[in-house]
Amino acid sequence: MAATSPTSDLTDEQRAICEMVHQFADEQILPNAEHYDHEDAFPEPIVEQMKELGLFGVTIPEEYGGMGLDLTTYAMIVEELSRGWISISGIVNTHFIGSYLLMKFGTEEQKQKYLPRMATGEIRAAFSLSEPECGSDVQAIKTAARRTDDGDYEINGTKMWVTNGLLSSLVFVLVRTDPNAEPRFRGMTCFIAEKEPGVAENTGRYQGFNVPPKIKKLGYKGVESTELVFDGYRTPADSILGGEAEGLGQGFVQMMDALEVGRVNVAARGVGIAQRALELALKYSQERKAFGKHIAQHQAIQFKLADMATQVDAARLLTHRAARLKDAGERSDLEAGMAKLFASEAGRFCVEECFRIHGGYGYSKEYEIERLYRDAPLLLIGEGTSEIQRMVIGRKLLERHKL
Ligand SMILES: Cc1cc2nc3c(=O)[nH]c(=O)nc-3n(C[C@H](O)[C@H](O)[C@H](O)COP(=O)(O)OP(=O)(O)OC[C@H]3O[C@@H](n4cnc5c(N)ncnc54)[C@H](O)[C@@H]3O)c2cc1C
Repeated sequence: MAATSPTSDLTDEQRAICEMVHQFADEQILPNAEHYDHEDAFPEPIVEQMKELGLFGVTIPEEYGGMGLDLTTYAMIVEELSRGWISISGIVNTHFIGSYLLMKFGTEEQKQKYLPRMATGEIRAAFSLSEPECGSDVQAIKTAARRTDDGDYEINGTKMWVTNGLLSSLVFVLVRTDPNAEPRFRGMTCFIAEKEPGVAENTGRYQGFNVPPKIKKLGYKGVESTELVFDGYRTPADSILGGEAEGLGQGFVQMMDALEVGRVNVAARGVGIAQRALELALKYSQERKAFGKHIAQHQAIQFKLADMATQVDAARLLTHRAARLKDAGERSDLEAGMAKLFASEAGRFCVEECFRIHGGYGYSKEYEIERLYRDAPLLLIGEGTSEIQRMVIGRKLLERHKL
């Protein structure tokens, strides 16, 4: 339900899928989000239903058991899921990035090995760049892999803030393989690190892959964020994304490519949470009375609603543009950065305005806006902060308009 007239440029398939996911959010996510949020518990029954709906394989090609849909349709689905609860989209997000990496850079063996089981949600993927001492400055990572005498790789180091860190079976992890490489990014490689889902201290073939207790967070609950500790973890050379011959030293470039689609994905989450805040504000302002009339009749409140609706629509349009460019095979780095920056800030703005419209009740856990208020700030940080987006946008602008 867009605030304004829905755009008519959706295909019949997109319209049908969006309606289905919208209904799923209304019936399964929204009524249960408060419980899982307050318990900080993984929403297993919701995830099981998402598997049945095929939502873990939206962009995976049909030949590997997925739906084979494009990024634009995926962004629409993410918006609907996030309108329900952004933690739900977080469970799909890193999985989507992992499948993108496999589809674009994986060997045929890697695709055959993982994509069919990823499409059904039987195995889920995480994506790991950040470390305790660096997030924005990805090239400063310290986690390293060295080749052993028998041709395997041994990984040592600590990763930070890994969404789905515990329950995933696969982690697409960026590590340093050549400490002397110049420029630094050429010495980085992406490994597909396997582990047992849900196990804190892996043994046997996954020995040395440990997952400390989940990080306690302000919001974005239900989906776990963890550190990952690699302590002599051995993985075969063919777990390098794209294979050893093609993939060694390519990890940084591969991960940056994936972040571009990841940014569209975070933008869609911003649209979803902003849309929900607008819906809650429209409802509450037409129920609550002050000074003898519904607060929606006060012009100051109408101005807030107007600004929110405008931000939601602008964020949605920017997000769809970035996704469509990518789907068309055109350059979309600048547009994805703009969409991520604008939509995540729109999410924060709309949630805060909705909170203000709720007056004191916005501060009560009885009202949904309280959860949104804790969830929205994540979008300003994940997959590149607003400051980093501005750097990306500025750099790309200058590249495109060089004198
Ligand atoms: C809940 C949650 C889930 C996450 N999930 C994942 C995940 O699944 N995988 C993953 O790899 N990471 C994940 N992250 C990590 C996230 O991507 C990083 O937190 C983010 O990139 C910022 O890095 P940092 O926290 O190290 O901040 P820093 O890089 O230390 O930045 C701190 C501040 O300095 C600013 N800053 C940094 N450099 C510059 C500069 N050059 N110019 C101007 N300002 C600058 C930043 O914008 C920020 O305001 C997650 C984070 C959170 C909170």
